[in-house]
Amino acid sequence: MTEIAVIGAGLAGCVVANDLSKTASVKVYEKSSRPGGRMATRVVSRHQFDHGAQFFDATSPDFKSFLKPLLENGCVARWDPRFAEFDGPKLIRQTRWSDSHPHYVGKPTMSSFVDKLSKNLDCVFEIKVASIERQDERWVLYDTEARRLGDYDWIILTAPAEQTYQLLPNGVDFKSRVGLVKMLGCYSLLLGYRDAINLTFDAASVKNANISWISVNSSKPDRKNFSLLVQSTNRWAEQNMNMDLDEVQEKLFKFTSEILCLNINTADYVETKRWRFANSIRPTDQSFFLDRSNQVASCGDWCIKGRIEAAFLSAKRLAVELLKEL
Ligand SMILES: Cc1cc2nc3c(=O)[nH]c(=O)nc-3n(C[C@H](O)[C@H](O)[C@H](O)COP(=O)(O)OP(=O)(O)OC[C@H]3O[C@@H](n4cnc5c(N)ncnc54)[C@H](O)[C@@H]3O)c2cc1C
Repeated sequence: MTEIAVIGAGLAGCVVANDLSKTASVKVYEKSSRPGGRMATRVVSRHQFDHGAQFFDATSPDFKSFLKPLLENGCVARWDPRFAEFDGPKLIRQTRWSDSHPHYVGKPTMSSFVDKLSKNLDCVFEIKVASIERQDERWVLYDTEARRLGDYDWIILTAPAEQTYQLLPNGVDFKSRVGLVKMLGCYSLLLGYRDAINLTFDAASVKNANISWISVNSSKPDRKNFSLLVQSTNRWAEQNMNMDLDEVQEKLFKFTSEILCLNINTADYVETKRWRFANSIRPTDQSFFLDRSNQVASCGDWCIKGRIEAAFLSAKRLAVELLKEL
């Protein structure tokens, strides 16, 4: 049986591994302690925070049919927040997200359905693949201590583009194209409160400010106790990527209080998360990459667009092509 290593247990890694597992022996390596990647939820004492992806859309028939059973079994749910648009501190519009364009979240955490997918897979966690070498016509993977992890016929890389580029062996025909993809950073501010703050919205997009998003995370299905999730703009994060996290936190507090015209500094849980590679700009002109002669492939949101649906489609399309080879 063909042996395949998948690097990364985010949505793309779990989807491609799941599809190939029927035909090949697949092992997934994930550097974090759990699956989900940027679809991340922090659970701390009384609160839950989706500090990566906030929600997702489903526009393609393939993603809609993938979601159907997950909606039925409750791993995914609709989120219909009261939505507000701010221009700086000025509230310019309030609506409710409409039925014609539903927005979804994982339930009870953003990555619940990726957790579920990973249960069927041979996944190893807390192992960072640090290098990949060609030996005796096999791909050999090593961890950060230079320990040999295993050897494979094929490797599939699903980490964000800049991390994939660093790992891709020289000579892989698509390496230079991956090197052209630029990903942008973002900061998330996680705020948990003992008492709810009275806001007129559950989700807000903000223009002309250093923050782009404020949501009442606890308004999503199955999240308990009042919590807010604030995200910086990619631009501000890029300009301040090396700033001390305490200083970032102070700034995000100030920006958010200015937009909402209220003091949000009464939270009993506060944390700031730095995302170095949150979203891709300048996506590639391909849904995935495949070097047949070297038996190396790559997929992930950054091939198409920095969205959850794009990560799914990239992985699905790669699996269809790879199944023809196996
Ligand atoms: C702050 C933020 C907000 C977002 N908001 C939204 C949103 O509202 N809606 C939306 O649709 N999308 C949003 N996104 C984007 C969405 O999260 C991604 O499109 C999607 O999760 C990408 O999935 P993926 O599997 O392609 O990559 P990832 O989720 O990044 O998965 C890659 C995996 O590879 C692992 N990995 C990396 N390097 C190694 C290594 N060397 N060895 C082992 N494992 C490795 C990582 O730990 C990770 O688990 C947001 C992202 C962020 C960060």
